[in-house]
Order: sequence, then C-alpha cells, then structure tokens
Amino acid sequence: MSDEFLKLLAESERTLDQGFAHLPPNPATPLGPAASAILQQVATRLHDNYPYAHPLYAGQMLKPPHPIARAAYTLAMSVNPNNHALDGGRASSAMEIEAIAALAKMFHWPQHLGHLSSGGTFANLEALWVAGQLAHTEDGTPKAIAASDQAHYTHSRISGVLGLPFISVPSDEHGRMDLTILEALLNADKIGTVVVTLGTTAIGSVDPLDRIVALQEKYKFRIHVDAAYGGYFTLAANLSSETRAAFDAIPHADSIVIDPHKHGLQPYGCGCILFRDPAVGRLYKHDSPYTYFSSRDLHLGEISLECSRAGASAVALWATQQLLPYTPGGAFAQGLEAGHTAALKLHQRLKESPHFISPASPPQLDILFWAVRAANPEASSRLAQLIFDEAAKRDLHLALAKLPLRFFPQDSWQNSPQAEPDATVTCLRSVLMKPEHLLWLDQIGQRLDTAALTAIGSIPR
Ligand SMILES: *Cc1c(COP(=O)(O)O)cnc(C)c1O
Repeated sequence: MSDEFLKLLAESERTLDQGFAHLPPNPATPLGPAASAILQQVATRLHDNYPYAHPLYAGQMLKPPHPIARAAYTLAMSVNPNNHALDGGRASSAMEIEAIAALAKMFHWPQHLGHLSSGGTFANLEALWVAGQLAHTEDGTPKAIAASDQAHYTHSRISGVLGLPFISVPSDEHGRMDLTILEALLNADKIGTVVVTLGTTAIGSVDPLDRIVALQEKYKFRIHVDAAYGGYFTLAANLSSETRAAFDAIPHADSIVIDPHKHGLQPYGCGCILFRDPAVGRLYKHDSPYTYFSSRDLHLGEISLECSRAGASAVALWATQQLLPYTPGGAFAQGLEAGHTAALKLHQRLKESPHFISPASPPQLDILFWAVRAANPEASSRLAQLIFDEAAKRDLHLALAKLPLRFFPQDSWQNSPQAEPDATVTCLRSVLMKPEHLLWLDQIGQRLDTAALTAIGSIPR
C-alpha cells in the first residue's frame, strides 16, 4: 500500500472525525498487544492466493479495486452505514442514489428505478422476481424465463427458487443465443422473459440484443439484460460493429444487471439492478413496522429485496465515479478498450502459434479461450491442464474452461469424426480485465510459449 494512500486516508479520517468532535469523547477501542501478531498471521495466511492484482494473473475475473474505492470504503467503515434505511445511512444512501443514476445514464435511460446489491446473483434474482410477476398468462400462471446455454448458471437456479419455469436456449458456434430456436419458442408462446447476456462469464460472448429487441415486433416478452460482467463495455469505442449493435440496444431492455465489483473497480459486495419502469417499485411494497420513521424520503430498503446492505459499497462506488466518470473516451473507458485490444492481440498471436487452436472469430470483449493442438480432444484437454500448471510455475496464471467443440473450427482435431453436439474440450482461458495486461502481453505470450513447449515436450511420443 502506498504512502500516498495512507496519507490521504489519514487526512480524510481526520475530517470525518471533526464532524463529530462536538460530542463528549468516546475513545476508540484499543487494539491491544495481541493485534499485531494476529494481523501478521492474517497477512501470512493471505499469501495463499494467486497474485490477483498483478498483470501476470490473467486467469479468472478478478480485478483489484481502485485505490480510491479502497480508501473511500475504509473511510466509510468508521461510520459503517447501512443503506437499508435512511436511519442507518443518510449520506451513503444519497451517494447510492447518485451512483445508480450515473449507471442508468451510462445506459442512456432517461428514468429508472434501481439500487446496489451484494452482487450480480442477487441483482438477477430481483430482476427475475419482478419479471415473474409481470409476465404471465391470462389466468396468472407465470411464463418461462429463457436464457442461453452460455448464460450464468445462476439463472436456472434463481428461476427454481422463484418457482418459475426455465428454458435453456442453445447457443451457436460463437456462444451467442441461437435466435432461430428462440423464435420457435416465442412462437409457441412459452416465454415471458428472455435473459440476454452481454458478456458471458465463460467466453465473453455477447447475445445479439438488437435482433432480440426486433423480435418484440412479433412477440410479446420482457427483456432482462444480464450485463453483470460486460455492462461497462458500452463505453468502449473499439468494439466490433456486431457487438456495438448489441450494446446500443440496451435502452430497450426492461431491466439491467451490472456488477461494479467486476469491471467497475469496486471491492466485492457491489452489484446493481436497474429497472426502466420506476413503477415496478410498487411490487416491493411492504410495511416493516420498525425501520422507516426518520423521513418521508425514499428509503432504499423500500425498493430492495435485501434488508441490510453495506453503505460503504455505495460510498466507494460514488468516490470512484468522481475520479473516473463514465464518459466515452475518458480514462475509465480507455481501461476497458485496453483490455479488449489485449484480447484481440493475444487471439491473433495464438492463432499464429503452432501449439494452439483458436476459435475463428475474435473475442467480443476481453475474455479469450484457446485449445491445445493435439490428435484428439482428450489429448488436447490433458495438455491444457499441463500447460496451465507449467504456466503457473512461471508465475503466469491462466484459467481452464470446459467448452463445446463446436466453438472451434471443424477440422481442428484429425481424430474426432462427427463429435457429439455437446462434446467438450478443456481449454485454456484468460480474462484480460486489467488495462496493464496490454503492456504485459509479450511477457504473457512468452511465458505461455515456454510453458507449452515444456508441457508438450514432457509427453512421451
Ligand atoms: C458474475 C456474473 C453473474 C453473477 O454475479 P455475482 O456478482 O458473482 O453474484 C451473473 N451473470 C454474469 C454474466 C456474470 O458474469
């Protein structure tokens, strides 16, 4: 942690304390002599992690929070506000409302209702809870939720929790929802809500939202956009025209989920749900007898399924937005563009490599995957695991993913005649979500090549 960080934090803590200086002194709880040893133990135990903040960590979706988010979160913790009700967090509730408005504005929504949540799963639960109440047959039976087979696994589980039927729509060879199949299901009048994923978790594929919106001319259904991962890419200027068209259709969605704790530089515990029609607020109506006495203003707990929520999350997000506003062409947008460029460049490099097999189409966002060249998918899968281990020995941390063979060109494996449609291969996968990844691409590529040569060389022929 930098001296600058500690200095800024100490200065702002002092200002915060001054606001309460008129009260009789109430000294802070002393930490006592044991604290130092305990924290040393904590620090040592935390060594048992991958180095997520370092650019050589290029595996799963993990991105360090911005220092201003860490500082603002820490500062807010000395108040520890609860954004359930204004009694528990007036300032942080106001900051949450402003932070949410900035997110809605980024998606070009003239009005909205929304709030932060503990994460994308809970935000999606809320979206589908509302969808289930609004999309039903004439006799009140809820219609199905449909999502692609690349959608986040929690959608089917959430539908189960809510007692809503769930339909998995197959994806095409790019991992995007197959619209021919979707249209057949819509035609059969089974679907109430289509979950459109802008940035799937495994491969960062983007469902064609623009074309799904167009289907609303013929069929009646709600659209929920799961942009937990990809939402912020709407600010990026370097997306392909197909991907751009999907993001440009976001204003037509009924609800959006975005995770500031994924690409928004926030610590975990920061998801967000937005509804386009503020009138859905009526569905939340409840009269808890004890929380809402302080004012007639909106308490966020009146429009949220969760009760207690960290006000510190809202404070951290608000502070980050002041430093890095969501403006196209701004520093925040440039960070996302760098990740996409890095993914395109690594994709190109891997396509030219003799060791690997890449999907034909370039990554839509900043997630890419590739398989290892081998006689058949089984051998390829084993090599992927070996390369993953060899790369880790060289401090390059990748991820593994089991993906359908149809994501690769048809002639990728000589000895895999007419594979089953759902046959899979274990691939290497990399999420290049830190802007620094672009500067480190050569390092990443070189370490990957060395790891591949070692792994391939270790296989007896
Ligand atoms: C991460 C993710 C989720 C789940 O969000 P959490 O914040 O992990 O609960 C849902 N959908 C997509 C597309 C995601 O990437």
